[in-house]
Amino acid sequence: MAKKVTKKKAAKKNKKYVYFFGEGKADGRADMKNLLGGKGANIAEMTNLGIPVPPGFTITTEVCTEYYKNNRRYPAGLNEQVNKALARVEKIMGKEFGDPNDPLLFSVRSGARSSMPGMMETVLNCGLTTKTIPGLIKKTGNPRFVYDAYRRLMMMYSDVVMEKAAGIEPKSDHDAVRHKLEHEMERVKKKKGYKNDIDLTTEDLKALCAKFKNIIKKTLGTEFPDDHMKQLWGGIGAVFQSWMGKRAVSYRKIEGIPEHWGTAVNVQTMVFGNTGDNSATGVAFTRNPATGENLFFGEWLPNAQGEDVVAGIRTPNPVNEAGKTADTRHLPSLETKMPTLYKQLHAIERKLERHYTDMQDIEFTIEDGRLWMLQTRVGKRNGQAAIRMAVEMAKEKLISKQIALLRVKPEQLDELLHPSVDPAHEKKAKQLAKGLPAGPGGALGQVVFTADDAEAWAKKGNKVILVRNETSPEDVHGMHAAQAILTAKGGMTSHAALVARGWGKCCIVGCSALEIDLKKKLINVNGTVLKEGDWITLNGTAGRVYEGKLNLLPADPEHNKWYKELMKWADQVRKLGVRTNADTPSDSATARTFGAEGIGLCRTEHMFFESARIKAVREMILSDTIDGRRNAIAKLLPYQKKDFIGIFKAMAGLPVTIRLLDPPLHEFLPHSEKELRDLAKEMNVKFKKLKARNDALHEFNPMLGHRGCRLGITYPEVYEMQARAIMEAACELKKNKVKVIPEIMIPLVGHVKELEDMREIVVKAAEEAQKKYGVKVPYTVGTMIELPRAAVTADEIATQADFFSFGTNDLTQTTFGLSRDDAGSFLPYYVEKGILEDDPFITIDKSGTGQLVKMAVDKGRKTKKNLKMGICGEHGGDPASVEFCYNIGLDYVSCSPFRVPIARLAAAHATIKKKR
Ligand code: ADP
Ligand code: MG
Ligand code: MG
Repeated sequence: MAKKVTKKKAAKKNKKYVYFFGEGKADGRADMKNLLGGKGANIAEMTNLGIPVPPGFTITTEVCTEYYKNNRRYPAGLNEQVNKALARVEKIMGKEFGDPNDPLLFSVRSGARSSMPGMMETVLNCGLTTKTIPGLIKKTGNPRFVYDAYRRLMMMYSDVVMEKAAGIEPKSDHDAVRHKLEHEMERVKKKKGYKNDIDLTTEDLKALCAKFKNIIKKTLGTEFPDDHMKQLWGGIGAVFQSWMGKRAVSYRKIEGIPEHWGTAVNVQTMVFGNTGDNSATGVAFTRNPATGENLFFGEWLPNAQGEDVVAGIRTPNPVNEAGKTADTRHLPSLETKMPTLYKQLHAIERKLERHYTDMQDIEFTIEDGRLWMLQTRVGKRNGQAAIRMAVEMAKEKLISKQIALLRVKPEQLDELLHPSVDPAHEKKAKQLAKGLPAGPGGALGQVVFTADDAEAWAKKGNKVILVRNETSPEDVHGMHAAQAILTAKGGMTSHAALVARGWGKCCIVGCSALEIDLKKKLINVNGTVLKEGDWITLNGTAGRVYEGKLNLLPADPEHNKWYKELMKWADQVRKLGVRTNADTPSDSATARTFGAEGIGLCRTEHMFFESARIKAVREMILSDTIDGRRNAIAKLLPYQKKDFIGIFKAMAGLPVTIRLLDPPLHEFLPHSEKELRDLAKEMNVKFKKLKARNDALHEFNPMLGHRGCRLGITYPEVYEMQARAIMEAACELKKNKVKVIPEIMIPLVGHVKELEDMREIVVKAAEEAQKKYGVKVPYTVGTMIELPRAAVTADEIATQADFFSFGTNDLTQTTFGLSRDDAGSFLPYYVEKGILEDDPFITIDKSGTGQLVKMAVDKGRKTKKNLKMGICGEHGGDPASVEFCYNIGLDYVSCSPFRVPIARLAAAHATIKKKR
């Protein structure tokens, strides 16, 4: 027993905690990100590729995990391994850490598996002390550089090690040590009349360093450490501390990153870009991350260190001539200033991209004419760039077509399908407010406050943005007329958000900074006052609001050859069909250009709302005799027929699923007494009688009330008329040689008997219509599966159905027993708290609602092997749900027109992922 324990201890002691890299050889590799973090693994990989990387070592993520397991104590053996690695670096560099004559300096860099905001920032120049400074000055003959490095060390170290990692919370931003030091430096610059940091002289910097020490002591109560080893371990400890820092912990929660992953620490020999004009630092991308163009693209600064390039203290220069724009044409490029080094950098950059087979984001530093690489990682890119890069890389045979498809996230297509705010212009503009990005793309327009105004202004040819506290179904006409919708309240599932998403319209909701005064027609936004007619610009993809007009870049997917190529590949790969939800000929036409292969859901209720029709509808509902109802409904038939002809024509040759009337009857009823009185007059009945009937139709819970096929059961003449209109339209077109594939769908079926009854009515009407026209049009009759009972008895229901279409909006409502319209007050909270991983109305709830769908698919196919099945809820356009639909064996998904390309790509992803 005792022996076993010692053995275990010994094993622990021998565990490798430190991975060395230097002189062309590294202990680690790119695929060791879990152990070495992203930065460390890639540094090791670059070293092994023979790319010049300053030597150093990585302390593993396991140390971080053990550190927290053991009450914030390092594992035994770590110290020894670090010392060994230090000695190896010293040997390579021919210098020693802490040597007063020729000191070696280090950077301490944090590195989790994936880059994580909230982690400790890098500390450069570790090892500068009163003992080593004179030696370094003598060695370099460059006191200015040494004091510049020292003041940077103090700024970074006091901030991230002594304050943040130590858990010291400054009372305000002004009390933070970094702010105080920066303030002091600014004061000196101002006093001396300097514009830039590089104007500071040796004497200035020397005095500044002395001042810094005092400020640090006064602010934090401790001395700035004047010992190289203390600095190094302070830095290492700070990285591990920051793993449990407030910001890192909350970021992990949001991103779902587990705590046990831990972070690694990289200790690396310093190379200096700030020793003079023969030195420089920069960041670059192997292709343009904004356009995707295959062109080395980046920025550099002479005589600068570390993050000066990204920090925006000085305006960086373009690395090459080809990357210059009108704004940067006058600046010096690295290509012309240091041509040999540029060539070397270019060669390395090519090598890295070929090696990683993806666009890389790289950091480099030039010290006295020598190039060093400090980081490489897969670069972030926007949607447009992602598409172009993926397609071009596949054509260059760098990657396969399948990988190219996977490289583009379906959501990234959104950017291409809508006009967008010009990023260059947006960068310069001042943001007015921020809200939730509910509808993609960019839009500009004049502020209006009511739906009626929106419509009226738009009719006069104005571009308007409808601004409201929140929207309701009565606002729909104004929302339609507006370029975009902006609301002060509501979340991602609010009315405004849903409607806008369906149309692919730019929309920002929950923009709480807006104080809207409807009476005065004014908005107060953080002190800025906007009146009716003022111009604003919205970036709906990011949720940002701007005052005035910003440039918009037009959406033009049809002329984007990379997009078209990628979509072609997607269609070749995918097995799942993609249809659209469309109620009008124009929506149908849009969807067709986006690649829809049919209509999965054509709602008919909106066809009842137009002013000429609504009267007949109301007459029908409120009359209490069959004849009265039949009379009224007969007036609707020609309208319905016309609607269907339009849609059938737009979708000629493709299947069209038409859902018979679904919403609760009272939605069609008059709302005001005046409307009711007018109607009474028209119908020639007493107002009192009509009112009584109207009141009787009131429902407490309309969602679970008199709607769906329950209407067809109680008012069979409605469904009969609709079926007749559909089939007469189809027959008429058939006579004109237009191919039509009608699929008639009965909503809200929960019992097979309901469907049986409705089917009989529909078939009878359909047969009569065909007889009348003397032609045959093949048609099918199917049902929505949107109630749990329908899913559970799908085998029975299948006996009466030619197809199933899953209405996952209602199915989600009825499965959870919650109303989507009322969920805004608690559902976001559920998602935030992690009770639900996602909003089940956006991404299908796989283990609940999804299981009901799966059960219905299996049961339905047991009865009818080839029963056609699709989904028409909003989930049809959500990539994760599309994958789920494919995996459980649906034939198609149906979504709003603007999401059709997204669903096509998501379907391709699903096929590729399942194969792997
Ligand atoms: P981040 O993850 O925030 O990019 P890094 O660790 O990459 O942090 O470092 C920040 C900056 O410091 C980068 O510009 C990097 O190139 C530079 N840097 C890091 N280590 C060194 C080093 N050893 N020598 C010179 N510059 C360094
Ligand atoms: Mg940083
Ligand atoms: Mg970096």
